[in-house]
Amino acid sequence: MDFEFTDDQKKFRQKVCAFLDKEVTKGVIEESEAGLGFGPCSWELMQKLGAKGWLAPTFPVEFGGLALSRTYRYMVQRELDYRNALVIIRGLGLIGVDMAGPVILRHGSEEMKREFLPKIARGEIELALGYTEPDAGSDLSRIAIRAVEDEDDFIITGQKTFNTGCHFCQYHWLAARTGPDVPSHKGISVFIVDLKSPGITISPLWEMADTRTNQVFYDGVRVPKRNLVGEKDMGWYYMAEALDLERMITAGGVERTFEELVAYTKSTLKNGVPLSKDPLVRQKLVDIAVEINIARNLIHRVVWLQDKGIVPTWETALLKVFVCELYQKISRTGLEILGLYGQLRKDSKYSVLEGMMEHFFRSTFVMTIGGGTSEVMRNIIAARGLGLPR
Ligand SMILES: Cc1cc2nc3c(=O)[nH]c(=O)nc-3n(C[C@H](O)[C@H](O)[C@H](O)COP(=O)(O)OP(=O)(O)OC[C@H]3O[C@@H](n4cnc5c(N)ncnc54)[C@H](O)[C@@H]3O)c2cc1C
Repeated sequence: MDFEFTDDQKKFRQKVCAFLDKEVTKGVIEESEAGLGFGPCSWELMQKLGAKGWLAPTFPVEFGGLALSRTYRYMVQRELDYRNALVIIRGLGLIGVDMAGPVILRHGSEEMKREFLPKIARGEIELALGYTEPDAGSDLSRIAIRAVEDEDDFIITGQKTFNTGCHFCQYHWLAARTGPDVPSHKGISVFIVDLKSPGITISPLWEMADTRTNQVFYDGVRVPKRNLVGEKDMGWYYMAEALDLERMITAGGVERTFEELVAYTKSTLKNGVPLSKDPLVRQKLVDIAVEINIARNLIHRVVWLQDKGIVPTWETALLKVFVCELYQKISRTGLEILGLYGQLRKDSKYSVLEGMMEHFFRSTFVMTIGGGTSEVMRNIIAARGLGLPR
């Protein structure tokens, strides 16, 4: 196993870093921190990345990509995360590029590929993930929203919850039940739904870091049959494939936060001595540094497996548990080091690091829930990684 990036990959990363240093503007970061999804600055950045082929570098050239390996996509994702840009749920990828795109490529019709892939690659559209329902979260086989065939359409009725991107995306990557009379995981299909379709109501839900997610109600929504992804009733398998890719998380946000914390301890005096000389502070920082290095190696291994054409399952689950829990750990350690002032919000004149750690702390709670909870990830590792009984 060789973890060294090739010369071409190193040059690519340098170019991406130079570009993002310029293009991740204050406006992009503010939109990212506001928790409202993509605003005009984020869309502009998406399109600038798209114009270079860097948004979906793994897509074939004919569909707007550069036909490069996953390592290149990881590099872009990591650098965006490091700069706190396009972050909806920290560190996880974009739904269009990282989840829907690969499934469309493998299973979509030629018409669907031509219609959606270039727009995803150019950053013109994004899809909202439409899996979770009030009674179907960890166990997606319980999906109940119904899609019934009617001539050239499906008619969809039911409810989704925690569908984060629906208020700013153009399309819903929707899982719905098409087969009510077969074993539950066999009767699910995936659709691409125009979120402006009549009969869709999107209602906001706010999580504890002030990020907007949504409840979405479908009331007899007509979706053309050409928007069914792949084969009817095969959605469970497509979802499983896509979730393995969603769980590919980067540690860019952790690394950036850690650097800021270390710099803070060097520049801040306590009783006339820099915090960085306090043995307890040093130990806490070193513990995090050790885990960041482990995280980086886990991530590089998963990307390496993907480049070899292997779909990592338990390896990605292991990576997700480790990195998401590391995000939470650094936020707790950060608050301990900053002391009580660290808990103050940005708008307080007494806040430190502009309230960064307080917001980071609240924003990391969702990480061990979204994309599959840590308990469920541990079940996957136990069953598929260790061969323990289910
Ligand atoms: C802010 C936010 C944004 C989200 N965005 C999206 C989105 O855009 N699209 C989308 O589709 N979903 C989204 N989700 C949903 C997310 O994926 C689910 O919340 C998650 O999968 C857990 O499902 P649940 O909430 O129904 O909890 P449940 O599945 O009801 O789980 C409740 C608890 O039981 C535990 N549990 C469940 N089953 C097992 C088991 N077999 N073994 C051990 N423990 C178990 C869980 O770990 C959890 O602690 C989002 C969630 C949040 C909070």
